Amino acid sequence: MTSPSSCIFCRIATGEIPAKLVLQTDAVVAFLDVAPLADGHVLVIPRQHYARLEQMPPEAVSEVTRLLPDLGRALVQVTGAEGYNILQNNGIVSGQSVDHVHFHLIPRRSGDGLGYRWLAKQYPPGRAEDLQERLRQTLSA
Ligand code: 5GP
Ligand code: ZN
Repeated sequence: MTSPSSCIFCRIATGEIPAKLVLQTDAVVAFLDVAPLADGHVLVIPRQHYARLEQMPPEAVSEVTRLLPDLGRALVQVTGAEGYNILQNNGIVSGQSVDHVHFHLIPRRSGDGLGYRWLAKQYPPGRAEDLQERLRQTLSA
């Protein structure tokens, strides 16, 4: 198992540095984000080090994501949130600051001020068809 000594989340997974753990399995750890966007903001990580989602085998992704419904339910019950966002950043451009795959669960309440930037665009003619074709080819290769 890769466990880079410099990776803060690997060190949380091994218990080398403390975190407010809320759930642990053989493969996964969930803990409170140290700088929460909202009360109850949780991070869920694989114990094994992967920098980005596409580097994970599907089974490892499954070990993490199968816990999300229970975590979401618990967050709603415990914090009184009306809903939650799940966010998983890959790459600096996306906002990833810790180079170990993690899923954010961010409780949401009406008027919480967090907002949501969803700047939808329109495809120019032919672009959607081109993307569809190339993605289908890539995914079936
Ligand atoms: P990212 O921007 O990479 O998607 O999110 C990284 C998250 O990890 C941030 O929300 C940040 O607050 C959290 N974080 C960074 N270092 C620590 C730490 O040492 N302990 C905990 N509990 N959370 C951390
Ligand atoms: Zn790591």
